Amino acid sequence: MKSIQNYIDGNFVRGKQDFADVNPADGSVIAHVSEADQYLVDAAVRAARKALRGGWGRLTVRERAARLLKVADAIESRFDCFVAAEVADTGKPITLASRLDVPRAAANFRVFADLIKTTGLESFQSETPDGNTALNYAVRKPLGVVGIITPWNLPLLLLTWKVAPALACGNTVVVKPSEETPATATLLAETMQQAGIPSGVYNVVHGFGPNSAGEFLTQHPDVNAVTFTGESQTGGAIMKSVAASLKPVSFELGGKNAAIVFADCDFDDAVAGISDAVFLNSGQICLCMERVYVQRPIFDRFVEALARKSQDLRIGSPMENTTNFGPLISSAHREKVLSYYRLAREEGATAVFGGGIPQLDGPLAQGFYVQPTIYTGLAESARCVKEEIFGPVCHIAPFDTDEEAINMANDTKYGLAASIWTTSLKRGHHVAQQMNVGITWVNCWFLRDLRTPFGGAGLSGIGREGGIHSLNFYSELNNICVRL
Ligand code: NAD
Repeated sequence: MKSIQNYIDGNFVRGKQDFADVNPADGSVIAHVSEADQYLVDAAVRAARKALRGGWGRLTVRERAARLLKVADAIESRFDCFVAAEVADTGKPITLASRLDVPRAAANFRVFADLIKTTGLESFQSETPDGNTALNYAVRKPLGVVGIITPWNLPLLLLTWKVAPALACGNTVVVKPSEETPATATLLAETMQQAGIPSGVYNVVHGFGPNSAGEFLTQHPDVNAVTFTGESQTGGAIMKSVAASLKPVSFELGGKNAAIVFADCDFDDAVAGISDAVFLNSGQICLCMERVYVQRPIFDRFVEALARKSQDLRIGSPMENTTNFGPLISSAHREKVLSYYRLAREEGATAVFGGGIPQLDGPLAQGFYVQPTIYTGLAESARCVKEEIFGPVCHIAPFDTDEEAINMANDTKYGLAASIWTTSLKRGHHVAQQMNVGITWVNCWFLRDLRTPFGGAGLSGIGREGGIHSLNFYSELNNICVRL
């Protein structure tokens, strides 16, 4: 049986106890993972501090960027290994891991290596009270040791999205990947070695959240900042735990995203786009659309077309190229999603498609699958319309006017993403600008340029990462004012 260990100061280190890494596609245990206790988390933070003093933060920007580019190359040189590890940990189809997760991990290192080399800082020539001038300019310094805590849905993609800019800015990191998906963070440790990243710059501790590696890391007095992606409630718990030390935080949290489909949309395009936005990664992407509002003249036709399109979703071995629909991450998460399927019925929904557990044979029968599901008929106040389910499910409701659609889409405590489908340029811009979210797509979904701001409003997050926003979060700016 494979063993997955912590990575501290350039060494793979066992903890005192193990937990199981389970393949969600068939329920089998694929590895034993060494859990980091308080002592190991402390050792990881000390190693990161030592590496910071040892010179990573003092390398020139050009040197650091060159090393990050080597990490990107090293990820690509082990592409199949990363894909296989991600598929085994998450059960997601190999086509998705090969198209999205692993290429994006390499891209994250490339983008931030390029950005740190090319992004300048502002300077001002100011007047002094005595009529002379002063020159103001800012320099970028690392924050120090950054604690990075990530979820299971896009494990390597989301981890590298934070590791790459943190390292680009000269910080050292201790990462705590999700307990459900420990493999690729550990594989990345080997890749860091291969790319010549000095010991202690990148450290990995495995474990859970409360009273385990996650909390030990956020509470550690020598961690200078915490960046977190996960559930909104967990964000609240982390905020409490860092409050006394006033560590800066960046939170990318949950969502209950809305798509608005206007009668003037390109119909086939919209159906294909919404199908992706609801079912990709079995709905386990924070950006997935669980609420779909469709203008009344095309409502019935759209519901029917989306249900028909859903028949293309094929469950099978995740390693088959023909499989395009995977399991949920765990038996506990499947229970949560199924509890919402039951609740939807109690709340009066009509299941237009799915609504239960698929009948499967062989090893997949032990996997954590649910059917892709489309509901109609719920009141806007229903819990299934208000709460994040994080599964392959949406509710479709009709609307009449632009105003009504905007109000319904914004009637949520979350504020991560929206997707608008219309052929009217004017309407697209007008509606997009009224969405209370961090990112709005018009006639597309999940099209990402990594230089753009990413994050959420309301319960969906605090701060923005991406491009210059990441560089600003992961660095301390020192403004220098020189009287001339
Ligand atoms: P989660 O909050 O349960 O766990 C995320 C990570 O936090 C894990 O590593 C976990 O061990 C750790 N953790 C849990 N409690 C902790 C605590 N008290 N202190 C420190 N660490 C703790 O989230 P999840 O179930 O892994 O992921 C799904 C959630 O993530 C969904 O809500 C989804 O919307 C959200 N998400 C958001 C984004 C985004 O960019 N906004 C991206 C992906 C996922």
